[in-house]
Amino acid sequence: MTSWTPDSWRSKPILQQPVYPAAQALAQVEQTLASYPPLVFAGEARELRRQFSEVTEGRAFLLQGGDCAESFAEFSATKIRDTFKVMLQMAVVMTFAASCPVVKVGRMAGQFAKPRSADDETQGDLTLPAYRGDIVNGIAFEAAGRAPDPQRLLMAYHQATATLNLLRAFAQGGFASLDKVHQWNLDFVASSATSDRFQHLADRIDESLAFMRACGFDGVNSPQLRETSLFTAHEALLLNYEQAFTRRDSLTGDWYDCSAHMLWIGDRTRQPDGAHVEFMRGINNPIGVKVGPTSDPDELLRLIDILNPTNDSGRLNLIVRMGADKVEAHMPKLVKAVQREGKQVLWSSDPMHGNTIKASSGYKTRDFAQILAEVEQFFAVHRAEGSWAGGIHIEMTGQNVTECIGGATPVTEDGLSDRYHTHCDPRLNADQSLELAFMIAETLKK
Ligand code: PEP
Ligand code: MN
Repeated sequence: MTSWTPDSWRSKPILQQPVYPAAQALAQVEQTLASYPPLVFAGEARELRRQFSEVTEGRAFLLQGGDCAESFAEFSATKIRDTFKVMLQMAVVMTFAASCPVVKVGRMAGQFAKPRSADDETQGDLTLPAYRGDIVNGIAFEAAGRAPDPQRLLMAYHQATATLNLLRAFAQGGFASLDKVHQWNLDFVASSATSDRFQHLADRIDESLAFMRACGFDGVNSPQLRETSLFTAHEALLLNYEQAFTRRDSLTGDWYDCSAHMLWIGDRTRQPDGAHVEFMRGINNPIGVKVGPTSDPDELLRLIDILNPTNDSGRLNLIVRMGADKVEAHMPKLVKAVQREGKQVLWSSDPMHGNTIKASSGYKTRDFAQILAEVEQFFAVHRAEGSWAGGIHIEMTGQNVTECIGGATPVTEDGLSDRYHTHCDPRLNADQSLELAFMIAETLKK
């Protein structure tokens, strides 16, 4: 293999990129970004690798979640806080009900760029470039806004820094303390069956803490119970942005992409000879690869060898996103091949991207029953093959949206238009996310 540099991806074929009107303006923005402080530091990415290896080796579970696409319009403390709250709730459900440590990673503070199924979009007589996320162009169907604008890379960076700043404050400033567990419930779900179940669990946690205090155990005030960590991740799609944050760690001399703790390669850009794989093989962060139904065992093993040549158990997360009706046909042969070759990977399930459908009203949606079915089958395949089902990767929000149909307080097809706010794919709302967490906790307990 040829030697790697932060820009060696530039000589490889690349898919899913915007066509910027002026190369010069883009180059200037890249230079500016490269001069800015990084969002995370290498030591944090190494810590996440350590935690990933705990998951890979079957001692913890990975919860990865957040928006399909963050947007400039939907940017507020409330939205960040509410997504964080739901992740805390989900994590505590799994930790308490299944006694399993949970590693939390948000699709946050950088999840802006979207791969699209077509380069253009046509409405009536007009054809314009497809919307590729707020970091590239505007969602409104109008010529001026759809032209890719490099200034948006700077805006995305600033939004990511503010988001991460608030997340760090929430994680370490007392908000995530276990004695606040009741306060993580969101008002609008206060009356649902899932929420009652959560309140019951929270009562039991309160009781346990009170009991430990009464016994004189002063560890109740320790950082383990008062603080948490939420790592960040996004799809490494725009490699000019990622390259700008790729810095050499002063402690180890190794390269890290410091735009997030973890980066992943999308299902559309995982070609072994392509630019995205080339870029990702050289950074030392923990990384993910989406594994869709077109993935075959030989190609997967080739990718694993390129991306994790030393077979490190904290390096590589395979994020399986088959679709509930395809798991059985496609997944066992992949898991078998990985097991046979002794490859160390963290397997997680993205039950969202293979289950997208169009409702009769035209809305892009997902049926919660299919999402549950895919997760269940993911667990079943791992159980059958004797490997560890390590995590889930979901699109969710703390907002009371109606984007995916179904759930214990069901969203119906007719109700989709009530609060359909996503800038890209349909997300689970808080109630649906919690319900999924309870289902996983039950499965982990078995
Ligand atoms: C995504 O995670 O939003 C996404 C586009 O996923 P995939 O690459 O699996 O289609
Ligand atoms: Mn998506």
